[in-house]
Amino acid sequence: MESLRELYKIGRGPSSSHTMGPEKICQEILKNYQGDFYEVTLYGSLSFTGLGHLTDKIIRETLKNANVLFSKELNLEHPNTMDIAIYKDNQLIGSERYYSIGGGSILRKGDDLKEKPQVYPHKNFQEIKDYCQENNLKLYEYVYQHENPDFKDYLRKIWSQMKETINLGLHQEGYLPGLLEVKRKAKSLLNDQKNKVSIELRLLSSFAYATSEVNASGGVVVTAPTCGASGVLPSLLYFLRDIRKYSDERILDGLATAGIIGNIVKHNASISGAEAGCQAEVGTACAMAAAAYSELENGNLEVIEYAAEIALEHHLGLTCDPILGYVQIPCIERNAVAAVRAMNAGELATLLIDTRLVSFDTVVDAMKETGKDLLDSYRETSIGGLAKHYKGKNKTSK
Ligand code: SF4
Repeated sequence: MESLRELYKIGRGPSSSHTMGPEKICQEILKNYQGDFYEVTLYGSLSFTGLGHLTDKIIRETLKNANVLFSKELNLEHPNTMDIAIYKDNQLIGSERYYSIGGGSILRKGDDLKEKPQVYPHKNFQEIKDYCQENNLKLYEYVYQHENPDFKDYLRKIWSQMKETINLGLHQEGYLPGLLEVKRKAKSLLNDQKNKVSIELRLLSSFAYATSEVNASGGVVVTAPTCGASGVLPSLLYFLRDIRKYSDERILDGLATAGIIGNIVKHNASISGAEAGCQAEVGTACAMAAAAYSELENGNLEVIEYAAEIALEHHLGLTCDPILGYVQIPCIERNAVAAVRAMNAGELATLLIDTRLVSFDTVVDAMKETGKDLLDSYRETSIGGLAKHYKGKNKTSK
């Protein structure tokens, strides 16, 4: 498995696969070619939700002189495919096909993912668990043992950005960009003390909304594991630091624990909504947050595995159907729901640990297969589900 630096990335939302990935592809093209005009064709999910996800905007901004075409072709070798034709003095000087494979990672056609530097020798949770038990290691110690010596500094940067994003989101008011006229709610959730709901639910939701609203506005977030699902893990960690008074240094252990869970899913299934639906994005984020919660609340390896397993299991089958292609509905609310669920999964795992029958690896395998079985309309194309049935503000579908 690759370094967690490939999982946690700082970048602009609203979508790691639709903005960060294409931006990275364009940067590679600029590095490798001296063109003066570019024709970019988007396919699959990149095409169907590219406008709402601001894909064309980031491509034009990065390449400067580019024409972006939206192909309606589906059934490609990868659901997020992008072709770039490079011109100089009106002559075609090159063409490339790339895939945006989720969480801001990219792959050039013909390259092999396995050729990327592998930092972790183990492939799944069971192998990691065996190694940790043999060597008496916590999951976060396992991460620190395998990453570069300065990895904690990297995590500090990641945590600092997560906090900065939440703080920004908590101060913003008004409406999100786009045609849906979605009101920002993080600040009002934070300050709403008149309604009798649990403080955990209100604060966690407010922190998750803060990040997801910044993301939906094209602001800077951390992929955890993606931009669309970037509100779940930071909100729970922020809650644990602010309310349960964990130190920033201890939060880094939670981040490392969450990261290895996300890496296992990325390596063995997918963290891309276009590939496997929202179970792969928010489901994975929930599992990461549940694992971090369990680590900080002194769960052992078994409890951490069970918490992550519960969190992912109950997102199986979750589709990706963002309305009008904006990462707003259902995405933002879903991040808040998953943050609360992650805490519940951690607590339930502590209560039920002796009764567990299903391993985390089993759920990851099930998620991968379920993702393959999802129709294209439920994999970030905005042609099915809520996106299809939404008829506008205050109108029912009939
Ligand atoms: S529905 Fe889920 S996977 Fe799809 S864009 Fe929203 S957060 Fe991402």
